[in-house]
Order: sequence, then C-alpha cells, then structure tokens
Amino acid sequence: MKTPPHVTKHIFITGGVVSSLGKGITAASLGLLLARRGYRVRMQKLDPYLNVDAGTMSPFQHGEVYVTADGAETDLDLGHYERIAGVACTRDSNYTTGRIYSAVIARERQGGYLGKTVQVVPHVTDEIKAAIASMDGGDVDIVITEIGGTAGDIESLPFLEAIREYRQAIGRQNGLFIHLTLVPFIKAAGELKTKPSQQSVGILRTIGIIPDILVCRAEQHLTREHREKLALFCNVELNLVIEEIDVARSIYEVPLDLARQGADVYILEMLDLHVRPLDIRDWEAMLAAQLNPESGVAEIALVGKYVSLKDAYKSVCEALTHAGIAHRVEVRIRRVESEDIEKQGCEPFLQGVHGILVPGGFGDRGIEGKIAAAQYARTRGVPFLGICLGMQCAVIEFARNVCGLDRANSTEFDPDTPHPVVDLMEEQKRQAAKGGTMRLGLFPCAIGEATKARAAYGAAEVGERHRHRYEFNNRYREQMETRGMVFAGVNPSSGLVEAVELAGHPWFVACQFHPEFQSSPLKAHPLFSSFVGAAMAFRAPACRTE
Ligand code: GLN
Repeated sequence: MKTPPHVTKHIFITGGVVSSLGKGITAASLGLLLARRGYRVRMQKLDPYLNVDAGTMSPFQHGEVYVTADGAETDLDLGHYERIAGVACTRDSNYTTGRIYSAVIARERQGGYLGKTVQVVPHVTDEIKAAIASMDGGDVDIVITEIGGTAGDIESLPFLEAIREYRQAIGRQNGLFIHLTLVPFIKAAGELKTKPSQQSVGILRTIGIIPDILVCRAEQHLTREHREKLALFCNVELNLVIEEIDVARSIYEVPLDLARQGADVYILEMLDLHVRPLDIRDWEAMLAAQLNPESGVAEIALVGKYVSLKDAYKSVCEALTHAGIAHRVEVRIRRVESEDIEKQGCEPFLQGVHGILVPGGFGDRGIEGKIAAAQYARTRGVPFLGICLGMQCAVIEFARNVCGLDRANSTEFDPDTPHPVVDLMEEQKRQAAKGGTMRLGLFPCAIGEATKARAAYGAAEVGERHRHRYEFNNRYREQMETRGMVFAGVNPSSGLVEAVELAGHPWFVACQFHPEFQSSPLKAHPLFSSFVGAAMAFRAPACRTE
C-alpha cells in the first residue's frame, strides 16, 4: 500500500567537507525532478548565521541578497529554487539562527515560557521544527529543506538536532537525509579520496543523523571501488551513492545528470511515493540551446562595485544567460569594476562591448564610474540596462549632462546636493532601523505605450520586485521629460517612477525594480531578452567592419 498523498514528505539536505559545494543547485535540481514527476514541491533554506536575514550583509559576505515576491531579503540559494525548480519562495523559505532566536527571545519576554529555563534544546530546536513545519500544507507533497553551512560547524548544531528530531517524529518513510559531500582528487596520489566523506558522515552520526543518500561532488567519475567504500563506511546502500561530477558547461546540466543516475526515483521509492513519469523535454531543449549558441557571442559589460566576487550579481548573470538562451547567443560578461573607470575612464573597459548593464548597489564607492558608464552608453548609442542603483545613476547622469543641473546627485551619495534628483521618500526619512526597512517585494508598475519596455513586456501592467530606499524625485520629472527622458514605468497608486528610457536611443532602459529576480532558463525575463536582442543588433555593424 502506498502512503496516502496528503502526507507531506520531507527531504533534508546537509553539506560536508567544504562549503560552496553547490547544495543549493543540487537541492533545486532535485526539486525540479520531483516537480516534473507531478509532485507539489516547496523549498526552504535554514541558515546558521545570526543576522535575522541576509539583508544587512554586504554582497562580499554571501553573494547577492535575493528578494522574494513577498519582500523577504534572503539567501541566494532561493534564486536557484525559483529559477531551477520553478518553486515559488516566500518569507518562510528562509530562516536564520537570528530569526529563530529573535522569536524565542521575544516569546520569553512576553512570558511565553514562564517558569521555565529557556534552552537551545528544546526551545530553539522546537522553533526550528516549527519553521520546517510551516512549509507543510494540505497541497504540499514534498518539502526540501537545505541546511546551510558544513557538518561540524558549531553554528549548525541546533539545526541538525532539529532535523534529527523532525525525522524521528515523521518516520523514515516520510523523511530523508541527503548528504552532499566532496570526493577530492589528490594530484600527487593520482586518486580520488573518500576519507573526508567518511569523516563528515561520522560527524553526522555522532549527532544521530545517518544519511540515506550520499551525493558526491567530484572532478572525476567514481569507480565501483569508491562507491563500495563509501557505501560500506558511510552506511548507505551502494546505489544511493550518487555522483555529481563538476559540470564544465552549464549548471543546468545537473538535474539531467541526477536523473540519469535515478536519484529522483530512489527518493520517491524511499518516501513510498509513486514513481510517476518524468517529462523534462523542455529542459533538455533549453540546455541544447544554451550549449549550441548558433548566433555567436554578445558581450555585455557588467559595471559593478562587487565584481570581484562571482556570486555578488548571481541573478543578474543568470538572467543574462537566460536571455542568451532565448536568442541562441552566448552572452559573455565582461566584469568591470566601476572604480577602475573612475581612475582610467570608460574607453579601456567599455570599448567593443555590445551592451552595458549597471546593476544595483549601495553606498558611494564607485558611483562616479557607474555614472560615466551610463554617459558612455547614452552618447554612443550602446544598449544600456540600468537596474535600481543603475537607474539612479542614469538619472543623475542625464540631469547633470543633458539638463545642466550641476552637481545633481542622489542624497545617498551627496546629502547636500543642490539637485536631489534621487531622494528618500518621507516614510524612509523617518526610518532609523536598517534591517528589513527598504521598499521590498513585488509592486505593480504601469508601462507607458510606445516604450521599449511595453514592446518587451507586451503588457500594460507588470509586477516586479524591489529592494531600495531611494526614489526618483518627481519634482524633476517635467524638466527631464522635456529634454528626452521617457518615463516608461510608474507605480499606478503612488506615482513613483519605476522605469525610464531615452528618446532617440537604440535601447536605453533603466528600472528601479530588479527584473533579474523573475527570470528563469525556460522563460527569460522580457527586459533582459530585449536588451540582449538590442546588443545583438548593435553588434552587427561592428562585425561588418571587421
Ligand atoms: N542604494 C540605492 C537605494 O537604496 C539602490 C539600491 C539597489 O540598487 N538595490 O535606493
């Protein structure tokens, strides 16, 4: 007898040996496979740091801050869940130690534990279990919960204890442990080594977790001997030692790789769920398109201030890749540090690119370089996409150099500017606390007729995600409009400017929102797609002269 479908099953994914193994991509890839086998999947990340959410961390710490539709500032792995698994995330999809402790301490202050000593076990672990249970629901079949950090970290312990207890309560047929580990290749020995994985599983075992499935990241294929060794010492069945070979070409290969090894089938069987057919042909076609870019290369300059860290602009880079897939072109990203432009000018860094993208960011470092990049794009007709801070820089540039508003600026960078073309809204001026207080999440945007944005979206109203404090200052709207700035997107209720364009420019669109958070490999975001299309068109004359 199969389990009735209303029982929500849980999969817990832990990581071992080293960080950055790609737990998020593995979790998301499994999520995709299970969803494509007809199960309703939800995904969640538990992060063992003390920040209440990722919003107060610099991108240099953990990469970009991903924003959900309901306005949570979260770990970037949620981006993988939404893009790869196609699973919508909410505020409940990401809990941190800080958030868990805040709830426990607030309850203690309210007398919620009156008379008791409040402890990590059971009070903190109960709170973690409640966070996991918050993912359950009548219509949810499978919840995948990824535990951040690495087995052996002090910070992870309460989370590991909580998932141990959780599985104990729901039973083996309703809960699975997957451990993602590294099987390093040691050059001097010319061999793959299984010992770190054995030790990592050993750590989990001391706290009562025995992984059911081992997913092994490796540079080379595991031999039968490696698998036997891992199975024997890690206490897993031989066929449940799954390998995850480094994908040289695309992370979107990972789901297909896992499917080839039957990982999703084993999971369903262990969870006592029917193995329904897997239809993933669209994903295969998408991957084939990505790996065979018939239309050549489009080179896009990403002018940022955190470019040295690969993950800092994760969603932006992914969205560019998606647009490339849609156009069957390889989008090559030229990462440009905006401070370098400040020192040496645009030419050495932007020469020859087919499009310029200025992404979001905070603080005044590198701002003048971004403004110079916007000017370069405007005056030379290079396709330009400005996102959030990128739009603010484009507006400042236009105010200074087209409208003659000397020293125009955002009050974020120059509080005494005579022309605050970007400024705080009244409600933000009253806001002293930094955490979770920006304009966050999905807001509607009315798109003007006969604009580039309208052509891209093909819709008069869209919903896009936001994460910013400052806004275009509507006092300057008329003046800028007269000089050729097009106000293409406006919030229908507040009148806040959400997107601007330049009349007479081949493709210059800048938006206050973050379109990158709603792009996926199967459905490139319209603005990114249109931008890359414009970059391809821009590239053509250059190709002819070569
Ligand atoms: N720093 C700017 C603001 O707060 C832009 C934010 C962003 O780019 N996400 O408005």
